[in-house]
Formats: sequence, structure tokens, C-alpha cells
Amino acid sequence: MKNKVITAAAVLCATVLVAIIAFDFFMSASFSASFIAMNTTVSADIKGLKAEEAYREISEELKELDAFLLSRTSEDSQIYKLNNGKTDIDPEPAKLLSSIKDIEEKSNFSFCVGLGQLTDLWGIGTDSARLPRADEISSAIKDAEKWQISGNTVDLPDGVKLDLGAAGKGIGCDYASDILQKYKCKSAVVAVGGSVLLYSTDKDEVFTIGIRNPKGDINEPAAIIEIKACCVSTSGTYERFFEQDGKRYHHIFDPSTGYPAESGLQSVTVISSSGLVSDALSTACLVLGFEESLPLLKEFDAQAVFITDENKVMTTPDFEGLKIADSNFTLVN
Ligand code: ADP
Ligand code: MG
Repeated sequence: MKNKVITAAAVLCATVLVAIIAFDFFMSASFSASFIAMNTTVSADIKGLKAEEAYREISEELKELDAFLLSRTSEDSQIYKLNNGKTDIDPEPAKLLSSIKDIEEKSNFSFCVGLGQLTDLWGIGTDSARLPRADEISSAIKDAEKWQISGNTVDLPDGVKLDLGAAGKGIGCDYASDILQKYKCKSAVVAVGGSVLLYSTDKDEVFTIGIRNPKGDINEPAAIIEIKACCVSTSGTYERFFEQDGKRYHHIFDPSTGYPAESGLQSVTVISSSGLVSDALSTACLVLGFEESLPLLKEFDAQAVFITDENKVMTTPDFEGLKIADSNFTLVN
């Protein structure tokens, strides 16, 4: 009898052990791949039993997010329809536009999605990029801040067009995060262009990511940061630009002037628990400059790394885990 009990206990222990090992093995199963959406490459590196299923759904959802919500050119997208006379939208995008309006207001409209006319006028990143006349610029920024959302109804003043280019990639990170949660994934890095989701069920997992040297190669970071699960977005004057008469015109505009922002910064990297917030604020901070960005970042409980035109690196107060990786850059706070 005693022997039987011992044998049964040993079998139970072995079964539990096998189950633990199998669970660990499956949870550490991983899947990495990339696809194109929102005019950029989306790359995903996912760990978890259902990593591949999660990847497939992220790929489908982000393509749909672009085609049916964010795109300015797809006739099926809600933004396209709003820009072409429709006034009502579905509840989910309405919620997103309300959050966007809130960020616009809190950023004092340094982030403003009503700049569609202006981005078309400059055409930066297209074959028809040009320096517009001053009167064209002033008419393109007129009323840009005045679009409104109330419930599911959007009101665009005459001539105002929405452009969610500064927020869409961050929204994509938030969608990806929900899908990773749904498939009970363990850990993941999903990069949607310059917005990166660092996902983990382990609150102690630390990710190491590079902040690009604005004048260098993508694989030569100016600095390295070590952070826990969050969203990280970088906006930089080096991403898209053209040059004329020795002057560089980049793609992030100061909505108050209609010209590319000149805040003394080459790039801003914002870290937040929300993809939308990190993406929108990286654009806002690039317009505002270092000093004026600090209260805004505090309001959203976000952190940031700034690289100035003189290669100085600055961070929000108490930011830890940043190391300079290139001797051309100096940490100044
Ligand atoms: P990237 O698209 O390179 O990741 P951003 O997230 O900063 O960079 O978005 C820049 C894009 O957002 C521009 O290409 C333009 O379409 C739009 N945009 C430019 N300036 C602003 C602004 N001040 N507020 C909101 N959107 C902007
Ligand atoms: Mg942005």
C-alpha cells in the first residue's frame, strides 16, 4: 500500500514537472516577421504559445486600420470620407478623435491633425515637394485647429482636412497591444515605423532600444535606453525632407506658422503607456522645443529624450537608464 502511494506521488510530480517544462517551452515559442501598412514597415517579434496567430491578426488589423480608418487616399477610410463631406463616424474612431482633440488642446495645438491642407501643399516626401508661397501657407493653416468632434459627429470648417499621420503609428501600437493580450502572449516588440510597442507580461522585463543618430545610419544609435514595457515613438527632422537653396525643409510643421518646426531639436523620443500619446507627443514636443515640452509630458505622465541640433541629449527629470552610445553626443542633464 505504502509503495503504491509513493509511486503515485512520484508519477504526479513527474507529470507536474513535464507540464511545467512543456508550458515554458510553448510560452517561449516565438514568431518574427514583417509586413507593410500605413506606408511603413511593421516588424513584430512575438513570444508565446500563440505567437504566430497573434502576428497574423496584428497584420490583418493594422492593414484594416489603415484602409478603413486612417488613410487619406483609400475611399473606404473614415478620414477620407470626413475629408470629403461626410460628418458622422463610427463610435470607435469617434473615441479616438476625441482623445486626439484632447491632446491637441493640451499641447496648445503644437500637435494638430487639421493640417491636411498644409501637408498636401508642401508635399514633403512626394515627387512634388516644394516651398509654397507665404499666402498659400497662411490660407492652408487657417482654421486648422477649429475642427470639432461631438459624439459621433465631426465638423470640419471649410477647407480643413484631417491628416492623422502624426498619430496613426502609435494607434497601431495600441491595437497590437490588445491583440497580444487576447492571445496571451508573453513578450513582444512590435515596431510600426518610428513607433515601437514593448510588450511584456513580466513587469520586471527590461528592453534595450537604440535612439537613432539623426545624422547617422539606422544601426548606429546616438544613445541606448533600457526601459520596461511601454510605447516609444520618435519624431525626427531627418525622416522626410527636401533641400532648396541650401536650406532643409522637413515634414513636421509648426501649426502656428505653417513652416517646418525650428525648435532647436533634431529628434524627440517619447515614452508612454499609450501608443497614441507617445506618437502624438513626439510630434508636439518637436514643435515645442525642450523647455515648453516638459509641462505637457508631465500632464500625460510621459518621459522623453531630446536630441538638439548641437547633438546635446536631454531627458525629462529623473529619467534613468540612458547611456550615450556615440561620442559625438553629450548628455547634458
Ligand atoms: P513620422 O510620420 O515620421 O513618424 P510624426 O509622427 O511626427 O513623424 O508625423 C509627422 C506627420 O504628421 C507629417 O508627415 C504630417 O503628415 C503630419 N504632421 C506634420 N506636422 C504636424 C503637427 N504639428 N501636428 C500633427 N500632425 C503633423
Ligand atoms: Mg508622431
